[in-house]
Amino acid sequence: LLSQQELRESNARSYPRRIPIAIQKAEGVIITDMNGKEYIDCLAGAGTLALGHNHEVVHEAIQQVLADRIPLHTLDLTTPVKEAFVDELFASLPANFAQKAKVQFCGPTGGDAIEAALKLVKTATGNRTILSFQGGYHGSTHGTLSISGTTSPKERIHALVPDTHFLPYPYEYRCPFGIGEGGHEAISTYIENLLDDPESGIVKPAGIVVEVVQGEGGSVPAPIAWLKELRRITKERQIPLIIDEVQTGIGRTGKMFAFQHADIEPDVLVLSKAIGGSLPLSVVVYDKALDQWEPGAHIGTFRGNQLAMATGKATLSFVKEHALDAHAHDLGIYMQMQLKAIQSNSFSIGDVRGRGLMIGVEIIDWSKPANKIGTHPGNGELAKVIQQECFKRGVILEVGGRHGAVIRLLPPLILSQAQADDVLERFKEAVKAAEA
Ligand code: PMP
Repeated sequence: LLSQQELRESNARSYPRRIPIAIQKAEGVIITDMNGKEYIDCLAGAGTLALGHNHEVVHEAIQQVLADRIPLHTLDLTTPVKEAFVDELFASLPANFAQKAKVQFCGPTGGDAIEAALKLVKTATGNRTILSFQGGYHGSTHGTLSISGTTSPKERIHALVPDTHFLPYPYEYRCPFGIGEGGHEAISTYIENLLDDPESGIVKPAGIVVEVVQGEGGSVPAPIAWLKELRRITKERQIPLIIDEVQTGIGRTGKMFAFQHADIEPDVLVLSKAIGGSLPLSVVVYDKALDQWEPGAHIGTFRGNQLAMATGKATLSFVKEHALDAHAHDLGIYMQMQLKAIQSNSFSIGDVRGRGLMIGVEIIDWSKPANKIGTHPGNGELAKVIQQECFKRGVILEVGGRHGAVIRLLPPLILSQAQADDVLERFKEAVKAAEA
């Protein structure tokens, strides 16, 4: 039954439909609903809450800003809080990149920062076309939706930004170019051919936008060797490479930034979600050679969220001091191993994959025939049933990917081994119940 408040809210609200609770309070990885029932939160604000809910260092940071009478709104003026945040951010970047980087504060969302990144590379190169990847997700504004591979939200939104072009992503489980090394090499060759073909219409793109692990697209990690190739291809042709780490950044994949797995560097790095330490913040960090904007070329009122800079700094320091990136790496491997064991006793789990604590479990329709590379169609209906069975057992997780067939685990990085075991046990029961 919908409450009066829910009836007043937009039909566009989404999470309450699949996670039908009102939250009383939350602490660490535990959410408590109005009836006192506890849930383990493996969604974490869509990958935002690296330190879980209401972490002590986040509270302390907020209290300090208030005690120091720091202005809560500053446009893009400087304060000691901003300076400390920038110092911490630059100290967290790979040294080589930090040396040549500049940071731009954007509006509060990931989408805002992606918009800024697109305008930045268009301005710097004088080119217009943006290349991005099938299955990618970069936001829900007109610009970011235009470059997102997800097509369903676009169906009724006409006249999106033109001059975008989609490239195949090395989604190994369903790669039409074939699996393994051959598959991703074929994609690299395909991209090089497009870029070198005078008839392709994309010879001079303004930039290529990529997620190192596709998030909303179904927790799909790109192979390391392919990422190196993409960097080589873009460097050789002087095409700015925009790496969208809105979801992967700040330790989630087992390294501070996911591009570090491939030992590459972006030209433009986009950060939001965890960088705000629970509060809204987004930044673009980029090679200063691209900084060809006139003053005021990209503006916005809310680029000075001091509370978010303080909580962001506290979160960055905590992740580093407690090596939560390494913890995410180890626990991620353990969880994938356990999920593969669950897969071996299940007929509906087609794939278990991920990097660090960004894990995807792809649910398939085993009764339908497999395609030529041996994969069965995704089963979004069953994925939803498993999600609901998990919910009943007190585990909150999300579905995503093609057909909504991928169960996504994005727990806070502070998840303990015991809590992970708890999630895995309940997940196993949920799969069993859903398959029955
Ligand atoms: N990029 C990626 C990789 C994301 O995962 C998201 C959000 N899920 C966005 C951009 C957009 O961020 P926001 O919802 O804050 O606009």
